[in-house]
Amino acid sequence: NGSDSKYKWSIHVEVRLQPRATARFETIRNRVDLWLKSFDRINLFSTLSGWEDVPELASSVEKIATSESPCQMQSLPLDEMILHIHIYQPSDGDAYEEFSNNSGGREDGDDTMAASVTELPNRNWEGLWDSLIYESDVKTKLLDYIHATLVLSDAGVDFNLVSWNRVVLLHGPPGTGKTSLCRALAQKLSIRLSERYSHGRLLEINSHSLFSKWFSESGKLVQRLFTNITELADEEEAFLVVLIDEVESLTAARAGAMAGTEPSDGLRVVNALLTQLDKLKHRKNVLIMSTSNLVKAIDGAFVDRADIVQYIDLPPREAVYEILRSCLVEMASKGILIGVAVPPLQKALMYERTAPTGQRTVGIMTTSDPHERSKLVGLRLLGLATQCRVQEMSGRALRRLPVLALARYIGIGKIPDSSEGKHTANADAWFDGME
Ligand code: ADP
Repeated sequence: NGSDSKYKWSIHVEVRLQPRATARFETIRNRVDLWLKSFDRINLFSTLSGWEDVPELASSVEKIATSESPCQMQSLPLDEMILHIHIYQPSDGDAYEEFSNNSGGREDGDDTMAASVTELPNRNWEGLWDSLIYESDVKTKLLDYIHATLVLSDAGVDFNLVSWNRVVLLHGPPGTGKTSLCRALAQKLSIRLSERYSHGRLLEINSHSLFSKWFSESGKLVQRLFTNITELADEEEAFLVVLIDEVESLTAARAGAMAGTEPSDGLRVVNALLTQLDKLKHRKNVLIMSTSNLVKAIDGAFVDRADIVQYIDLPPREAVYEILRSCLVEMASKGILIGVAVPPLQKALMYERTAPTGQRTVGIMTTSDPHERSKLVGLRLLGLATQCRVQEMSGRALRRLPVLALARYIGIGKIPDSSEGKHTANADAWFDGME
């Protein structure tokens, strides 16, 4: 309750610095704090502007945004919030490969990569967190939980009394954004924890290549990988997230071994993995995230180690709408889609409630009133979202849909006269293509 004066909302403000800014984080934090305190109210979950007029900020800052908050209000008075200002300067570098398997004396030149490392926060993953859309508050729930465990270990809580394993498992159908969510979470945590850790790293283990390809060797490979992880974790001022993708391919082996269908090497690998995981749980700067498309295929001992086992479902109709809307908005901003403003979900739902049933939504471009046009776009997109939901489309398939629509449009070979030869399509053509 925002009006209860005894309680205040915890509001996170993320301040991104320019790539070459050299100002001290502390200086910027104080300056941003001062600037924010010059307002009576602050908008939540939005990109703030006006800092450009403060010279110290203008020379170093690139973006200031208030991030998601449990508070549902659009804005809050300053005296009802506690501000947490996070300053970060994302690194530009791409992931580099680590621990490739060519050091094991193999001569066939095959150097399967077992893992890659990305510096955090990373510029490539800016915006990823916001682009992932789920029905429930999955994202904040995960973030809060992980945050809580970090607070506990920071406080030095006795591990024998309150314990956790720092292992998170996301599972669900393919293409529902699990891997992306892990990366986005890692990015988010590295921003949130920037006061505590000077930098972060994400180490991604490709279970498939680690395991299937080097079957007989992978026991050793797991050991070696974890030796390297331990080295990374030794750097205590760095926060390390280890992502084990498709973890079922690692752990299914043990079940196979027990059923006598696989050589016992599989068993060794999984045992090695579990032992190594247990060693990592005392490291307070390490978090292990794993994903799986098939939770049934995962070793029970692994699932048991996960503090959070979160099911990630196919996007519901509302999330489908938002995913497609973000695609359309991006294409409109790049000039590939013309003549539409796609309304936000809440607005579209309102149109839907008040629209006479069976209202025609084709012929968007024949309406010249922009408001009416936007309404028709919203209704048609809701209709499309329903169809996608019925067909159980994944987030990945949805993000591909506009590409297919454009391909179809290009295939027709007709380019509007007004577009100077550029491939732009109007809203009707887009919807025809996508449907
Ligand atoms: P998974 O690991 O579950 O197979 P990925 O993380 O590889 O899925 O997701 C593939 C792509 O699909 C992502 O890059 C993202 O653009 C898109 N996507 C999937 N689910 C969603 C979602 N819920 N909201 C937005 N985009 C999504």
